[in-house]
Amino acid sequence: MSIKEALKKVQDSIESGVTLVAVSKTHAADVVMQAYDEGVRIFGENKVQEMCAKAQCMPSDIEWHLIGHLQSNKIKYIAPFVSMIQSVDSMALLEKINAAAIKAGRVIDCLLEVHIASEESKFGLTVEQAREIALSPSLKELTGVRVRGLMTMASFTDDSEQIRKEFTAVKNLYDQIKEKNTAFDTLSMGMSGDYKIAMQCGSTMVRVGSSIFGVRDYSSK
Ligand SMILES: *Cc1c(COP(=O)(O)O)cnc(C)c1O
Repeated sequence: MSIKEALKKVQDSIESGVTLVAVSKTHAADVVMQAYDEGVRIFGENKVQEMCAKAQCMPSDIEWHLIGHLQSNKIKYIAPFVSMIQSVDSMALLEKINAAAIKAGRVIDCLLEVHIASEESKFGLTVEQAREIALSPSLKELTGVRVRGLMTMASFTDDSEQIRKEFTAVKNLYDQIKEKNTAFDTLSMGMSGDYKIAMQCGSTMVRVGSSIFGVRDYSSK
């Protein structure tokens, strides 16, 4: 299947009101441009260096979303252009993004990454930590960032009930926060293997890579 056909299939399966982030990590700019040429303007990358390289050689109307772990010493490279950082996993990182955004004369949209999956991970906030940051009174002093919601990944499993349970837990957290924090309007849940379940659980943004661009080849990197 061509990228054009695969993209059409994904787009047709996405509910209205749900935003598609095309995850372009590991794919070369000329390949990613095939999706751009079909009208896609939101792309997700998980590495700062790769995002910067693609942003430099691709059209400037693209909204770049960082979906992978961000080291604070690399914020400065993406602060001038990144549209959304979906992987904020500490208050300290949020404060540093804020400082870099102000320096660049920008306001950067952010999501708090919640770790709910059963696999071990060094990254991501617990439900309690995410709630604490999202409802912290000091958020409004951070004028360089807009914390707009939550991002999460479900367990890597074929057990759709397990996945549904995890997405529902994060949706519940999102709803609780939204009652008190009116800036919350984005719930980023769902990848190629589970975005249909995620949408049923209330996701407003899905991050789809391999269903559009094919399987990733890490061996050449
Ligand atoms: C790679 C990645 C995706 C996309 O994964 P696919 O299974 O290829 O759709 C989504 N979210 C995050 C955080 C990722 O790292």
